[in-house]
Amino acid sequence: MKISEMFASIQGESTLQGIPSVFIRLAGCNLYCRYCDTTYARSGGTEMTVEEIIDKVKSFELSFVCITGGEPLLQKETPELAGKLVGSGYKVSVETNGTIDASSLPDNVKRIIDIKCPGSGEDGKTFMKNISLRRNGDEFKFVITGREDFEYARHFVSKHNLADIHTVLFSPVLDVLNPELLADWILHEMPEARLNLQLHKYIWPNEKKGR
Ligand code: SF4
Repeated sequence: MKISEMFASIQGESTLQGIPSVFIRLAGCNLYCRYCDTTYARSGGTEMTVEEIIDKVKSFELSFVCITGGEPLLQKETPELAGKLVGSGYKVSVETNGTIDASSLPDNVKRIIDIKCPGSGEDGKTFMKNISLRRNGDEFKFVITGREDFEYARHFVSKHNLADIHTVLFSPVLDVLNPELLADWILHEMPEARLNLQLHKYIWPNEKKGR
Protein backbone atom coordinates (compact mmCIF):
# COMPACT_ATOMS: atom_id res chain seq x y z
CA MET A 1 0.00 0.00 0.00
CA LYS A 2 1.08 3.62 -0.51
CA ILE A 3 1.42 5.26 2.90
CA SER A 4 1.82 9.00 3.23
CA GLU A 5 2.42 8.96 6.98
CA MET A 6 1.64 7.15 10.23
CA PHE A 7 1.56 8.82 13.62
CA ALA A 8 -0.16 8.82 16.99
CA SER A 9 -2.32 11.78 17.91
CA ILE A 10 -5.59 12.89 19.46
CA GLN A 11 -8.57 12.18 17.23
CA GLY A 12 -9.77 15.66 16.31
CA GLU A 13 -13.12 14.86 14.70
CA SER A 14 -16.32 12.82 14.80
CA THR A 15 -17.82 11.18 17.90
CA LEU A 16 -14.35 9.73 18.52
CA GLN A 17 -12.99 13.23 19.18
CA GLY A 18 -10.42 13.34 21.95
CA ILE A 19 -9.41 9.67 21.81
CA PRO A 20 -5.68 8.91 21.46
CA SER A 21 -5.43 7.12 18.13
CA VAL A 22 -3.01 5.84 15.52
CA PHE A 23 -3.47 7.52 12.15
CA ILE A 24 -2.68 5.75 8.90
CA ARG A 25 -2.74 8.30 6.11
CA LEU A 26 -2.91 6.65 2.71
CA ALA A 27 -1.46 8.46 -0.28
CA GLY A 28 -3.50 9.52 -3.30
CA CYS A 29 -6.81 11.28 -3.81
CA ASN A 30 -9.34 11.59 -6.62
CA LEU A 31 -10.55 15.08 -5.63
CA TYR A 32 -9.09 18.60 -5.43
CA CYS A 33 -10.99 20.28 -2.60
CA ARG A 34 -10.24 24.01 -2.38
CA TYR A 35 -9.61 23.84 1.37
CA CYS A 36 -7.58 20.60 1.36
CA ASP A 37 -5.16 20.59 4.30
CA THR A 38 -3.35 17.40 3.29
CA THR A 39 -2.23 18.25 -0.24
CA TYR A 40 1.10 16.53 0.55
CA ALA A 41 -0.80 13.23 0.70
CA ARG A 42 -2.20 13.56 -2.78
CA SER A 43 0.85 11.93 -4.34
CA GLY A 44 3.96 9.97 -3.41
CA GLY A 45 3.92 7.74 -0.37
CA THR A 46 6.00 4.85 0.90
CA GLU A 47 5.20 1.31 -0.19
CA MET A 48 4.32 -0.93 2.77
CA THR A 49 2.62 -4.30 3.06
CA VAL A 50 -0.49 -4.77 5.18
CA GLU A 51 1.61 -6.75 7.67
CA GLU A 52 4.25 -4.00 7.89
CA ILE A 53 1.54 -1.43 8.55
CA ILE A 54 -0.01 -3.54 11.30
CA ASP A 55 3.40 -4.07 12.92
CA LYS A 56 3.94 -0.32 12.99
CA VAL A 57 0.45 0.27 14.42
CA LYS A 58 1.31 -2.14 17.25
CA SER A 59 4.42 -0.11 18.11
CA PHE A 60 2.24 2.87 19.16
CA GLU A 61 0.43 0.80 21.84
CA LEU A 62 -2.98 2.44 21.37
CA SER A 63 -6.41 0.84 20.85
CA PHE A 64 -7.97 3.12 18.23
CA VAL A 65 -6.87 3.34 14.60
CA CYS A 66 -8.07 5.82 12.01
CA ILE A 67 -7.45 5.09 8.33
CA THR A 68 -7.56 8.35 6.40
CA GLY A 69 -6.05 10.06 3.39
CA GLY A 70 -5.98 11.29 0.75
CA GLU A 71 -8.79 8.94 -0.17
CA PRO A 72 -8.25 5.54 1.47
CA LEU A 73 -10.73 3.65 -0.70
CA LEU A 74 -8.60 4.24 -3.80
CA GLN A 75 -6.33 1.44 -2.57
CA LYS A 76 -7.80 -2.01 -3.02
CA GLU A 77 -6.11 -3.41 0.12
CA THR A 78 -7.85 -0.93 2.46
CA PRO A 79 -10.77 -3.25 3.38
CA GLU A 80 -8.27 -6.06 4.10
CA LEU A 81 -6.15 -3.73 6.26
CA ALA A 82 -9.23 -2.53 8.17
CA GLY A 83 -10.47 -6.11 8.66
CA LYS A 84 -7.12 -7.39 9.90
CA LEU A 85 -6.81 -4.50 12.35
CA VAL A 86 -10.27 -5.28 13.72
CA GLY A 87 -9.25 -8.94 13.93
CA SER A 88 -6.21 -7.88 15.96
CA GLY A 89 -8.48 -6.17 18.49
CA TYR A 90 -8.34 -2.54 17.33
CA LYS A 91 -11.29 -0.18 17.09
CA VAL A 92 -11.07 1.06 13.52
CA SER A 93 -12.54 4.02 11.69
CA VAL A 94 -12.17 4.94 8.02
CA GLU A 95 -12.57 8.50 6.77
CA THR A 96 -13.66 8.65 3.13
CA ASN A 97 -14.56 11.52 0.84
CA GLY A 98 -17.77 9.69 -0.08
CA THR A 99 -17.18 9.41 -3.82
CA ILE A 100 -16.18 5.72 -3.85
CA ASP A 101 -18.19 2.60 -2.97
CA ALA A 102 -17.53 1.98 0.75
CA SER A 103 -19.45 -1.31 0.93
CA SER A 104 -16.26 -3.41 0.88
CA LEU A 105 -15.31 -2.18 4.36
CA PRO A 106 -16.08 -4.73 7.09
CA ASP A 107 -19.27 -4.18 9.10
CA ASN A 108 -17.47 -3.53 12.37
CA VAL A 109 -15.47 -0.61 10.96
CA LYS A 110 -16.84 2.85 11.69
CA ARG A 111 -17.26 4.75 8.42
CA ILE A 112 -16.96 8.55 8.50
CA ILE A 113 -18.40 9.59 5.16
CA ASP A 114 -17.78 13.09 3.86
CA ILE A 115 -20.45 14.74 1.73
CA LYS A 116 -18.82 17.45 -0.35
CA CYS A 117 -20.54 20.85 -0.34
CA PRO A 118 -20.26 23.52 -3.10
CA GLY A 119 -17.47 25.39 -1.29
CA SER A 120 -15.18 22.40 -1.86
CA GLY A 121 -15.51 22.72 -5.62
CA GLU A 122 -16.22 18.97 -5.65
CA ASP A 123 -19.92 18.72 -4.80
CA GLY A 124 -22.20 16.37 -6.73
CA LYS A 125 -19.69 13.50 -6.82
CA THR A 126 -21.03 11.53 -3.88
CA PHE A 127 -21.43 7.79 -4.54
CA MET A 128 -25.10 7.69 -3.66
CA LYS A 129 -25.24 3.97 -2.79
CA ASN A 130 -23.15 4.90 0.26
CA ILE A 131 -26.24 6.85 1.34
CA SER A 132 -28.93 4.33 0.40
CA LEU A 133 -26.95 1.40 1.86
CA ARG A 134 -25.76 3.20 4.96
CA ARG A 135 -25.10 1.19 8.09
CA ASN A 136 -25.67 1.67 11.79
CA GLY A 137 -22.72 3.60 13.18
CA ASP A 138 -21.93 5.52 9.99
CA GLU A 139 -21.28 9.21 10.54
CA PHE A 140 -21.79 11.84 7.84
CA LYS A 141 -19.55 14.86 7.73
CA PHE A 142 -20.12 18.16 5.94
CA VAL A 143 -17.24 20.64 5.73
CA ILE A 144 -18.84 24.08 5.71
CA THR A 145 -17.22 27.18 4.20
CA GLY A 146 -20.23 29.52 4.45
CA ARG A 147 -23.95 29.97 4.23
CA GLU A 148 -24.36 28.28 0.82
CA ASP A 149 -22.69 25.12 2.17
CA PHE A 150 -24.85 25.21 5.29
CA GLU A 151 -28.02 25.38 3.18
CA TYR A 152 -26.74 22.59 0.92
CA ALA A 153 -25.90 20.36 3.88
CA ARG A 154 -29.19 21.03 5.62
CA HIS A 155 -31.12 20.15 2.48
CA PHE A 156 -29.07 16.97 1.90
CA VAL A 157 -29.56 15.77 5.47
CA SER A 158 -33.30 16.39 5.30
CA LYS A 159 -33.77 14.83 1.84
CA HIS A 160 -32.03 11.60 2.87
CA ASN A 161 -33.18 11.51 6.52
CA LEU A 162 -29.54 11.23 7.55
CA ALA A 163 -30.11 12.49 11.06
CA ASP A 164 -32.65 9.76 11.88
CA ILE A 165 -30.13 7.35 13.36
CA HIS A 166 -26.79 8.80 12.26
CA THR A 167 -24.47 11.42 13.67
CA VAL A 168 -24.32 14.37 11.29
CA LEU A 169 -21.17 16.44 11.66
CA PHE A 170 -20.92 20.07 10.52
CA SER A 171 -17.32 21.20 10.43
CA PRO A 172 -16.32 24.83 9.76
CA VAL A 173 -13.19 25.43 7.69
CA LEU A 174 -10.70 27.06 10.05
CA ASP A 175 -10.00 30.73 9.21
CA VAL A 176 -12.80 30.69 6.61
CA LEU A 177 -16.00 30.32 8.64
CA ASN A 178 -16.22 31.56 12.22
CA PRO A 179 -17.23 28.58 14.41
CA GLU A 180 -19.42 30.92 16.44
CA LEU A 181 -21.48 31.72 13.37
CA LEU A 182 -21.89 28.03 12.47
CA ALA A 183 -22.81 27.27 16.09
CA ASP A 184 -25.50 29.94 15.87
CA TRP A 185 -26.91 28.51 12.61
CA ILE A 186 -26.96 24.99 14.11
CA LEU A 187 -28.67 26.16 17.30
CA HIS A 188 -31.39 28.06 15.48
CA GLU A 189 -31.89 26.06 12.30
CA MET A 190 -30.30 22.61 12.42
CA PRO A 191 -30.16 21.20 15.97
CA GLU A 192 -29.87 17.65 14.56
CA ALA A 193 -26.31 18.47 13.49
CA ARG A 194 -23.28 18.28 15.72
CA LEU A 195 -20.63 21.02 15.61
CA ASN A 196 -17.39 19.30 14.65
CA LEU A 197 -14.39 21.50 15.42
CA GLN A 198 -11.09 20.02 14.28
CA LEU A 199 -9.63 19.66 17.76
CA HIS A 200 -6.10 18.89 16.55
CA LYS A 201 -5.90 22.27 14.81
CA TYR A 202 -6.55 24.03 18.10
CA ILE A 203 -4.04 21.86 19.98
CA TRP A 204 -1.35 22.01 17.28
CA PRO A 205 -1.93 25.09 15.11
CA ASN A 206 1.60 24.85 13.69
CA GLU A 207 1.37 21.47 11.98
CA LYS A 208 2.69 19.28 14.83
CA LYS A 209 0.27 16.38 14.97
CA GLY A 210 1.32 14.33 17.97
CA ARG A 211 4.04 11.73 18.10
S1 SF4 B 1 -10.97 14.57 -0.44
FE1 SF4 B 1 -9.74 15.11 1.36
S2 SF4 B 1 -7.62 14.66 0.75
FE2 SF4 B 1 -8.86 14.71 -1.13
S3 SF4 B 1 -8.63 16.82 -1.89
FE3 SF4 B 1 -10.51 16.74 -0.63
S4 SF4 B 1 -9.84 17.36 1.43
FE4 SF4 B 1 -7.98 16.80 0.27
